[in-house]
Amino acid sequence: MTIVEPRRGVALSKRQKELLERRLEVERRDTELTMSQLSADVHTVQVSRQDSPTDDEHDPEGPTLAFEQSQSTALLRQARDRLAQIEVALGRIHDDSYGTCTNCGAAISYARLGARPYTPHCIQCAERLGA
Ligand SMILES: [Zn+2]
Repeated sequence: MTIVEPRRGVALSKRQKELLERRLEVERRDTELTMSQLSADVHTVQVSRQDSPTDDEHDPEGPTLAFEQSQSTALLRQARDRLAQIEVALGRIHDDSYGTCTNCGAAISYARLGARPYTPHCIQCAERLGA
């Protein structure tokens, strides 16, 4: 299978936009699901930490639980950021600015949007901005 990279400046077709919108909606649902699972994890770990003795040195479970909690909290933060990006991208589909780089105004290639439908930047800007 060959993916043909559209030329820089080629706008998305209506059909491509519809496909990407559907992808974004699926990603939003998945991210929301991940977030509710992670929130439940963080809560469970909080509860088990309250139940276990606070003396970490004599409690082998203590540091493990603390580690798990910071992992889940970090993942939760990531998921929240992703969800915000997805919401912004969906908003841009509706106001018809989707597919255009927010930094330089160039069209973002369909191949890039296919891989990261929530990205606000073209590949050149993403590399330059390190995002
Ligand atoms: Zn750009």
